[in-house]
Amino acid sequence: MLELKQIKKDYLSGENCVHALNGIDIQFRESEFVSILGPSGCGKTTLLNIIGGLDHYTSGDLLVNHTSTKHFKDSDWDTYRNHTIGFVFQSYNLIPHQSVLSNVELALTLSGVSKEERRKRAADALKQVGLEDQLHKRPNQMSGGQMQRVAIARALVNNPDILLADEPTGALDSKTSVQIMEILKEVAKDRLVIMVTHNPDLANQYSTRIISLSDGQIVHDSDPYQTDGKT
Ligand code: ADP
Ligand code: ADP
Repeated sequence: MLELKQIKKDYLSGENCVHALNGIDIQFRESEFVSILGPSGCGKTTLLNIIGGLDHYTSGDLLVNHTSTKHFKDSDWDTYRNHTIGFVFQSYNLIPHQSVLSNVELALTLSGVSKEERRKRAADALKQVGLEDQLHKRPNQMSGGQMQRVAIARALVNNPDILLADEPTGALDSKTSVQIMEILKEVAKDRLVIMVTHNPDLANQYSTRIISLSDGQIVHDSDPYQTDGKT
């Protein structure tokens, strides 16, 4: 459903060129929980941003449902970002003084559905993350774990095929991290979840596949389906 072919990403900073990604090949499947691990600066966030259409690749190709994105127009990228992808960040990125329900509803503003339907879908998404009785709270009254649940609900409200999470538990204590991982594991039952993490224990315990990066290259991919043509 999602495939990266020889993806490279260079950043120009002053006179220097940083090779952030150096020929990445990955084939993702419809429902797996993939963790991306690796030391700081190895290219994890760059990879996630390219998969999410937030950043351009320098060369190679990203295929979405077997379709190359090389000739995607701005409107194709908009559709991809709004309908195929949901994004969760370490820092939640919620609007602090608006209700939880409005925060989630806002993600549906461009969806063309009625206000009533938006409310209903937002409430359903919040129920999925166990916040059905907190709809009228504001993020600035909530704990980090609760805010991350709101962010997950917001990412899911458009019913995307792919959920991307950049260090979703980076700011949380270990008990709360486990609660968030349980939610992501549920989410990954019927969609693709790709998570960047610094925490190999959480990756090992919850994900179905681990990809390790070093210096912009894949050094290990535990792809459970990979047979190297030998079987
Ligand atoms: P990670 O998420 O693994 O910490 P990043 O993807 O953030 O790594 O960064 C990979 C490399 O690309 C690093 O060397 C980083 O300094 C560089 N980099 C990331 N973003 C930019 C940018 N906007 N401009 C220049 N260099 C960047
Ligand atoms: P530029 O770097 O040319 O100023 P921007 O980062 O402002 O470009 O993005 C311009 C538009 O290019 C984006 O809104 C997006 O729709 C489109 N775009 C083209 N290629 C890609 C890509 N590989 N990933 C994400 N967006 C892309």
